[in-house]
Amino acid sequence: MHKLTIIIVLTFLICFKGISAQSNKLTKCSLTKILDQKEKQYESLCIEMSKAQWNYYSDGKTDQLPVAKKRLNKFLNDKDFTSLILESYSLRKTLDNKILARRLELWRNVLIGAKVNFSEEIVELQTVLENHLVNTEEQKSVSPASLKELTLELIKLRNKKAKEAGYNNYVEMMLEITGLGKESFDKLVNSLEQLSNEKYLELVKQYKVKSNVKVFTFGDARKMFVKYYQASLIPKIPTEIRDSLIIETFSNIGLDFSSLPISIKQRNMEGAIQGQGIAVKIPKDFRIVTDNDVSFCDLLHEYGHAIHRTNFKGSSPLLKGYEWCTGNVNNSFAEGIGDLFSNITKSAAWLLKYSNLTKEEVDQNNSLIDEYKAVYIRFQIITFLLEYELYYNPDKDILDIQNELVKKYLLVEEPVKRTMNIATPLIVSYPIYAHNYLIADIVSNYIHNELLRKYGIRYTFNKDMVHYIIETYIAEGEYQSTEKLKIIIDDLEEYITKN
Ligand SMILES: [Zn+2]
Repeated sequence: MHKLTIIIVLTFLICFKGISAQSNKLTKCSLTKILDQKEKQYESLCIEMSKAQWNYYSDGKTDQLPVAKKRLNKFLNDKDFTSLILESYSLRKTLDNKILARRLELWRNVLIGAKVNFSEEIVELQTVLENHLVNTEEQKSVSPASLKELTLELIKLRNKKAKEAGYNNYVEMMLEITGLGKESFDKLVNSLEQLSNEKYLELVKQYKVKSNVKVFTFGDARKMFVKYYQASLIPKIPTEIRDSLIIETFSNIGLDFSSLPISIKQRNMEGAIQGQGIAVKIPKDFRIVTDNDVSFCDLLHEYGHAIHRTNFKGSSPLLKGYEWCTGNVNNSFAEGIGDLFSNITKSAAWLLKYSNLTKEEVDQNNSLIDEYKAVYIRFQIITFLLEYELYYNPDKDILDIQNELVKKYLLVEEPVKRTMNIATPLIVSYPIYAHNYLIADIVSNYIHNELLRKYGIRYTFNKDMVHYIIETYIAEGEYQSTEKLKIIIDDLEEYITKN
């Protein structure tokens, strides 16, 4: 009965929206066929975009980007196709074909994302700001106050466009189309806050006594965070052994490095970006560009992305996970797979074999990480909430937002005095993305604990490991990313207690 409804709706749409010219043959047209054809076109436009992005990141050449963006935008700005997807989307839960249902969900996300993020006004203002941020000459010509104003203008514009697309604001739209949703996001932040509360209170109490501090400041909280950060850093790997150690690290888990279709380039990268992995053509062409000083862990993280995308075994181009349109990829899960591979270096067995740390030192670092995890979680939360609150309250004083958050999450007892800079590449170019890094840590932690239980303490030396990861988390691409993520974030207890 449900299937019948879908056929009727689709036939209606196809007939009246002109997707096929011959109405007498329309009943034979299946949604799958339409999507197959659309996805082929979508993929070739994504590949064009990937190549343009690669030229930008690897060589600084921007000339191909505008055309690639324009073509992708034009393709996605198709009213008939959007109507078809929105109508079919509402019936997706009645479909027996779960892959088709997921494709509808992703198509809907991509089309909404494109409508907002590719809208002319947003692209124009964002480009102006990006030019100011990357071009040092232009930077001199604009005052920090005007940059702040322009960023606030962009934030308001994004809210306006999100409202036009049917959402309360831009944060809610971005959270929904990237797979998490506002409700799950809020629930996650609350759970993390509550689960880390007791430990954090105790740490602040201890710190105040130990450091003879009466009024706990943001600077004090930062000192506690540094403890976590230092304990989680692995000793520096000498550049001359870096490549051979990567090959060996992968070989230990059963991955033949030479079989991966990956090319890598090194250059002096500007700003905070250490590396950029680009899936040019999935699954056969992945390229990585890194800064000359890239850390071993950051490099492994990019290889993690490469393993993720080059082991896709499905056929739908949309499920491959091209990253150029918001909504196509569950970013929290994707960053989690990156971290899953970089965190191999945090396992005790790996550290004991490849670093000069003794067992006592490894144990000591691990207990420090456990001890200060609550601090790490709360710093991550305020990092992304500072940005997201700007969308909820674009007219509010930024310093007030900062102070409310540091008081609530870091228990800071004295207001901070310096207003944060909001004209940053993260806020301008990667909006509503920062929470993905905290969730990535949760995803990686969850899978590491699962592997530890499955293969024992030397799991990072088990040759079946990569096969298990590929089959369980990677091969189906974006088909299961959101479903897997939901299972993982519903099970936080272990994340708080066991690193
Ligand atoms: Zn990443």
